[in-house]
Amino acid sequence: MSRIHGLIDEAARVPSIGRIAFTGGEAFLLGRDLDTLIARAHALGFETRVITNGYWAVNEAAARTRVGALLEAGLDEIMLSTGTFHQRFVPVERIVHAARATTSAGIGTRIAIETCDQQSFDETILRERLGDALAARTLALSHDPWITDAGGRGETALTHERLRAGGGARADGSCAVIMTTLAVTPGQRLIACCGFPLEELPGLEIGSIADRRLDDVIRDAPDDLLKMWLHVAGPMGIAQTVAEYEPGFVLPGDPVSICDACIALQRDKRAMRVAGEHAALNAESIAGTFVALHSRHPDAARTTALAL
Ligand code: SF4
Repeated sequence: MSRIHGLIDEAARVPSIGRIAFTGGEAFLLGRDLDTLIARAHALGFETRVITNGYWAVNEAAARTRVGALLEAGLDEIMLSTGTFHQRFVPVERIVHAARATTSAGIGTRIAIETCDQQSFDETILRERLGDALAARTLALSHDPWITDAGGRGETALTHERLRAGGGARADGSCAVIMTTLAVTPGQRLIACCGFPLEELPGLEIGSIADRRLDDVIRDAPDDLLKMWLHVAGPMGIAQTVAEYEPGFVLPGDPVSICDACIALQRDKRAMRVAGEHAALNAESIAGTFVALHSRHPDAARTTALAL
């Protein structure tokens, strides 16, 4: 716990970081320690966000009490995750209790619903029981594609034919997350993104913070062409360049989201070899685009958030 407090202090030495997000695992398993971490981040001037499955909101009173303590600590935003797979363990009623308590407390709230062919979650209960908060825009619902675990954990292979048929599968475009949001893994590795597969793609790692200060590791991080290229062109853009030199190349698995495409790209040895060669050849152009983006939108290409 003292290391997490230390990381918050170290993040305060990086002027561009404005938000600390507590993600877990399940951040609420920290109990009251979560409140003290939020309070520390809040006292240092950070916006604070927490991501949770809402298991703790067992009834309305319990949700109100827990949220009251978080509000006092300085929590600004909460994301509640739900869907078929979450429902095996956490009934949707708890999401309703949690969202009602957080929206009433004025905490920005989003409910993220798993999306894949294997889900059968009926969100009617959310729309019916939280309709007033949705109408008032104090609550948002989002549908996030869930992808098969990149590390091979889990028993179910997830598919997205319905999403594809509805035109909702989007894997193209630049990655706005890489380098703007950093994440710390349980093994104290600093990663340049907070996408689903962050622990599985060594190319996204910045370095270990086990024995070094976070701000020192960020300051000393070398310019990395792959990360810059992902930032300005995204994985599909890099795959297009690979295909120019390797005719017929397509990313395997027909990616359903940008992170899905990122996994496919970084796991393909041939693609990474060709991308590495051409990143070096196109270094000036990649770095130039990155710098131009940075000068037009100062926050677009620098670290603004840390996920713990
Ligand atoms: S596209 Fe890649 S770099 Fe960007 S958030 Fe997803 S996994 Fe991270």
